[in-house]
Amino acid sequence: MSGDIFLRQLELGPMQNFVYLVGDPVARECVVVDPAWEIDEIVQTAEAADMRIVGALVTHTHQDHVGGSLESWGMPGRIAGVEELLARVPAKVYVHKAEREFLRGLGSDLVKVDNHDTLPVGRLTITFLHTPGHTPGSQCFLVDDRLISGDTLFIGSCGRTDLPGSDPSEMYYSLTQRLGALPDQTVLYPGHNYGGPESTIGDEKRSNPFMRFSSLGEFLRTMGPSRIVLP
Ligand SMILES: [Zn+2]
Repeated sequence: MSGDIFLRQLELGPMQNFVYLVGDPVARECVVVDPAWEIDEIVQTAEAADMRIVGALVTHTHQDHVGGSLESWGMPGRIAGVEELLARVPAKVYVHKAEREFLRGLGSDLVKVDNHDTLPVGRLTITFLHTPGHTPGSQCFLVDDRLISGDTLFIGSCGRTDLPGSDPSEMYYSLTQRLGALPDQTVLYPGHNYGGPESTIGDEKRSNPFMRFSSLGEFLRTMGPSRIVLP
């Protein structure tokens, strides 16, 4: 079925975010991943391709992925993000259950998901993979042999683990156990353009230092202490 997917990667906003449209070109339905910036551009891209947006998938609830006030980042104003998308198209918003309180305002449009939940989009099946570390509810989306990785795995690096809600131990297990277990040929689509538009899990396992630590202890010596206190 690969080659039979509608997939668009849009680099939007001032922080090199990648927004994705993923769907079934036969059913003409797609979802949008992390609609925070330039909602017009997102909606128009779908319309121009004759694709209907039926859902929004949230990798995590940082403002540059869902919208919200930019005050905490020392920037003025707010970006409308998911709320503006919902004003334009009827859609459900899929967020990991650990971060649902951050999007409470969406009411019944919000769907909380957990590890290994799936969502059909036309003939496609999207699988949610919970990959905590950057945030408690960070998740990646697997569609056939493609992985949309948010701020968990970048090309040549990984998401920050020194922010409120981050945890380096969880990041270690997400990178080495959960994503490291995917087939090498899995194509990687990251949440920011920090190292290019795409890679593969195999290439990252070979060359990304953050996937190559041999133990949790070594990882923590580089990334800083875990917030989880073991008894
Ligand atoms: Zn983030």
